[in-house]
Amino acid sequence: MSVNYVCKHCHTLIGRVEGSEIDETRLGFHLLTEAERHEYIKVHTNGDVTVRMTCDFCTEAIQMHPELSLLSSPLQ
Ligand SMILES: [Zn+2]
Repeated sequence: MSVNYVCKHCHTLIGRVEGSEIDETRLGFHLLTEAERHEYIKVHTNGDVTVRMTCDFCTEAIQMHPELSLLSSPLQ
């Protein structure tokens, strides 16, 4: 299985973790509430996991232009 971290704004692949040693505690998923898990984590039928987060570039853009965070794809 693999875990892919994808920016929810620009859809850039931020990082990728592969291997069978992946567990939710190590990834910090247990720190999220049920609602957050539902919002940020997508588990695919083949076991792969996609985690939606914000990349450094978009974090910076949103800090400079907070109104952009209201849009799902501010840079497109
Ligand atoms: Zn981004």
